[in-house]
Amino acid sequence: MSTQPDPAAGAAVKATDRAHVFHSWSAQGLIDPLAVAGAEGSYFWDYDGNRYLDFSSQLVNTNIGHQHPKVVAAIQEQAGRLCTVAPGFAVDVRSEAARLIAERTPGDLDKIFFTSGGAEAVENAVRMARLHTGRSKVLSTYRSYHGATAAAINLTGDPRRWPSDTASAGVVHFWGPFLYRSPFHAETEEQECERALRHLADTLAFEGPQSVAAIILETVPGTAGIMVPPAGYLAGVRELCDRHGIVFILDEVMAGFGRTGRWFAADHWGVTPDLLTFAKGVNSGYVPLGGVAISAEIAAGFDRRPYPGGLTYSGHPLACASAVATIEAMAEEGIVENAARIGEDVLGPGLRELAERHPSVGDVRGLGVFWALELVRDRATREPLVPYNAAGEAAAPMAAFTAACKKSGLWPFVNMNRTHVVPPCTVSEAEAKEGLALLDEALTAADAHTV
Ligand code: PLP
Repeated sequence: MSTQPDPAAGAAVKATDRAHVFHSWSAQGLIDPLAVAGAEGSYFWDYDGNRYLDFSSQLVNTNIGHQHPKVVAAIQEQAGRLCTVAPGFAVDVRSEAARLIAERTPGDLDKIFFTSGGAEAVENAVRMARLHTGRSKVLSTYRSYHGATAAAINLTGDPRRWPSDTASAGVVHFWGPFLYRSPFHAETEEQECERALRHLADTLAFEGPQSVAAIILETVPGTAGIMVPPAGYLAGVRELCDRHGIVFILDEVMAGFGRTGRWFAADHWGVTPDLLTFAKGVNSGYVPLGGVAISAEIAAGFDRRPYPGGLTYSGHPLACASAVATIEAMAEEGIVENAARIGEDVLGPGLRELAERHPSVGDVRGLGVFWALELVRDRATREPLVPYNAAGEAAAPMAAFTAACKKSGLWPFVNMNRTHVVPPCTVSEAEAKEGLALLDEALTAADAHTV
């Protein structure tokens, strides 16, 4: 794709888009999508010559940045050799992708079921848990996102996303820990952890643990606000699952593959689930891919009986070739370590410093290249900056912030009253600092809406 501005070509792309593309999560008549002409590393650009520092990693998936040459070459090479083959065959790139993933997942999660994305991974993890236990209920947290397919959207702990055409049969939601807006009125991380675990134990007791197939959690809930769990929480959930024979599913679709500065977020707390879902960063989203990493015990349950599930594009060769190249590049180039270092040395201190100077920043939280700034009208009451008006359009305060970011050349990830600072894991120190400086400017627009 050309790097030369070509506004006429951009206008044509947009016109055809508006005529024929039905966009996800959008009121079709209210959107004005940017036409993207190309991308490289931490940047992408439009047809008018505007270049953006991608602090969103698209949908938090381009963990190795845009157009990594090794991954592009691997896809091209695979396309020239073998574009597609059904999931029932053994294929070199699929076997190798599974081996590389299994080598990195915690504990004995050594068998990999491939899907085309995150929601399908969640659907299959829940199905495996139900088949394994013979039970049906699944417990999942409020303030979570697990995908937009039938079961995954019901597991998602956000009523605004529940479609009216499906019911949340078999799903029970509970509160996970989140100190800044603690549902338990806790004042310390220790209290929050203890009360969140007691609440989960109570929920289980009232639901009847013998009817519960699985507890599913995002290791670090992402879309709902990057809420890093307190020390001891995940180990406590593991313990409850063990006590009641419940399958523990960690959803690492967003947090996995380097995002938190470890291969998997669970590594920070040394916790091994029974099933771990992944997607996004596994191949930086270059070709759709996701999957479930399965414990030896659950996998063994399907040694003599068939697993009733599968997808035409399970472990697609182009997707697997890009996963092999992505994981190899991450290992060769120290990309996971880079994410950890940038988080510790640049983003963490830089964002906390911004919070000191900007009254609109109520909370800063995160790790690696996975951070959230919670923007508030009033720091004392923690009243959020207004995200949307009744028509679903961004209302003034958050819209002003978003517009200021884009005008300065920073592409933010904005959700409700938060901006998530989620650049690629490959982001350089200079790029991270450039992003912080642009955020500094844009936050002034949010400050104008504080009390
Ligand atoms: N699970 C988590 C934790 C996610 O963040 C997402 C997407 O953002 C999903 C599942 C769904 O993944 P996909 O959009 O690939 O279906």
